[in-house]
Amino acid sequence: MTINQIIEKILRFEFLNMEEGLQIYNNLNLSDLMAIANNLRFQLHPDKQVGWIIDRNVNYTNVCVSGCKFCNFYCAEKSSKAYITSIDEYKSKIDEMISLGGNQLLLQGGMHPKLGLSFYKDLFSLLKSFYPNLKLHALGPPEIVHISKMEGIDFKTTLKELIDSGLDSLPGAGAEILSDRVRSSISKNKCNVADWLDVMREAHKLNMVTSATMMFGHIESIEERLQHLIFIRDVQSEKAKDNYGFLSFIPWPFQDKDTTLSKHHGIKNKVTSDEYIRMIAISRIMLPNVKNIQASWLTVGKPTAQLCLHSGANDFGSIMIEENVVSVAGADYKFDAIGIQKAIQEAGFEPVQRNQKFEFI
Ligand code: SF4
Repeated sequence: MTINQIIEKILRFEFLNMEEGLQIYNNLNLSDLMAIANNLRFQLHPDKQVGWIIDRNVNYTNVCVSGCKFCNFYCAEKSSKAYITSIDEYKSKIDEMISLGGNQLLLQGGMHPKLGLSFYKDLFSLLKSFYPNLKLHALGPPEIVHISKMEGIDFKTTLKELIDSGLDSLPGAGAEILSDRVRSSISKNKCNVADWLDVMREAHKLNMVTSATMMFGHIESIEERLQHLIFIRDVQSEKAKDNYGFLSFIPWPFQDKDTTLSKHHGIKNKVTSDEYIRMIAISRIMLPNVKNIQASWLTVGKPTAQLCLHSGANDFGSIMIEENVVSVAGADYKFDAIGIQKAIQEAGFEPVQRNQKFEFI
């Protein structure tokens, strides 16, 4: 197929196969890719609106058995740094978030070897009893797999029990690169590709709001990045038509500072601004059935994230009150509610605050 024929396919929102994806990745210059992705963005979202959200990260524990080589956040259960967040700490963090206009907690943390389903059910129920309007965007497929294996139950049962206890939506965390070759090398105790995708299939059957992510720029090949996008697109196309599914896709570059990958394996983040913008555009092109593409300002900074809004991205994500995982690996950009809106305006768009379901508020 010629490049022009592939471009025609893209503009009709048709799925590209691996070979076609590689052809455009390798042969189109950045400005052409940006223009094509921008065209798709405006077909999907004709207004110049860009979504953003106020939410707050809280880490429930830093104890983790996964041993990811890109993570500086976790520690062993017996470490003097190990913690499990107390209810009083949640309350003060939630109160601060509410005072800043947010109502959603992004609850992330380690895969603790002793915390099973009842811990999360009790935590979610308690938080909802104190804050009935609070939205819980919590855990991710690796944690669902970890809990299910600990309990000897299937993913659907785990998800249903957590939803009944107050879980509102499931972040697409822990996807890194959906390749078992990559995962067994950088995150050896994390779930494999089939399990990650199966958890999302079950979440979609339960009509949960989910997102998908990709952490790239370490040991993966371009083919593995494209295959990751194809997996996401294929799982999305399996969901029931009116169910939420993946509402957004968020790619970000590996943050290398002080990580095992960097210190012991010499793997550095070499993703330039141009390459990040290229991946945003490729994501928009390869994921015609995922409506929202988010630029990760936290990891790439304001100017690059602003250019992403002209390259297929239509969302700026959260102001991230307290982020402790990628921040300790070198991502140290910050925005408050005014700053994020100004950044969107400077890029030529209208900032609109949204909720987790991508409804403007
Ligand atoms: S990235 Fe998450 S799963 Fe991996 S070691 Fe860190 S806390 Fe654990």
